[in-house]
Amino acid sequence: MVMQTKWMPFASFSLMAEFEPAVGQEYWHCDMKRGFKRVRKKEPLIAALLARDTTPQRIGLLAQQGVYDFHQHEQWLDRVDGVEGVATVLQLEQFPTVRDRVLQILKSYHGKPVLRGKNILKLNRGDEGIPKPIELHRNNFLFKLFAAIDCIFLEPNGTLHILDLKTGKADFDPRQGYIYLLAAHNLYPNQKAIASFYNLESCEWSAPITATEIQLNAIQAQLARVAQKHELEKQRYRHSARFAELFPPNPDLMRCQHCQFHQICAFSTYEVSG
Ligand code: SF4
Repeated sequence: MVMQTKWMPFASFSLMAEFEPAVGQEYWHCDMKRGFKRVRKKEPLIAALLARDTTPQRIGLLAQQGVYDFHQHEQWLDRVDGVEGVATVLQLEQFPTVRDRVLQILKSYHGKPVLRGKNILKLNRGDEGIPKPIELHRNNFLFKLFAAIDCIFLEPNGTLHILDLKTGKADFDPRQGYIYLLAAHNLYPNQKAIASFYNLESCEWSAPITATEIQLNAIQAQLARVAQKHELEKQRYRHSARFAELFPPNPDLMRCQHCQFHQICAFSTYEVSG
């Protein structure tokens, strides 16, 4: 029997990717980033950096809000000024650095509204905050899974379709699809489910991902390992505080330039001019 205790480690796709980057994303990996984000997040300077959206985060959030708003007011999908209507609701003028890219995303979605006519069960704006965790266990190890699902719709044959909305150029990571399917398996145990990714910039829809019981068990085991590794490094940091040893830096000009912690990182090779 699994005993519930107060101590409850967690796992998520983003934590998993911070340990083991997706194929094609290896260049951007730096363990120290995970250290700043996960074990030093309460320090005032770091908390302030984490509170600011990065450019990709801001674009992703506005794009998702735009899709949500189109489906809240579907008449905008038919109107020639629909894009302007949603841009006004999003107050895009307040975000000059990302405005043009988000506007292009809204135009693409207005021209090809892929969710139109779907039996949508859930569509998130993206700013709902931390999702309700799902309690999982692996042997006697209990942990929480956080899986923020953008959209769920019902296929005509009754299958649940979990859709993740993407922006940017990175390839889809199938591990994320399996995590969504694991979440669906626990939230809607008697329903068949598939998962896919739709890129709002390239307008590409991935092939649907399905998972067998064995694959769901495998991803659950992988998540449990991530939760355990993260818990262990938190404890090690609390007891030794040798930050750079526990989270080795991986400096490089471009990597550091795009790192949200470069201003406070002693190992950054990128210097801000002025
Ligand atoms: S600034 Fe560079 S070395 Fe420091 S955490 Fe970021 S990527 Fe790693």
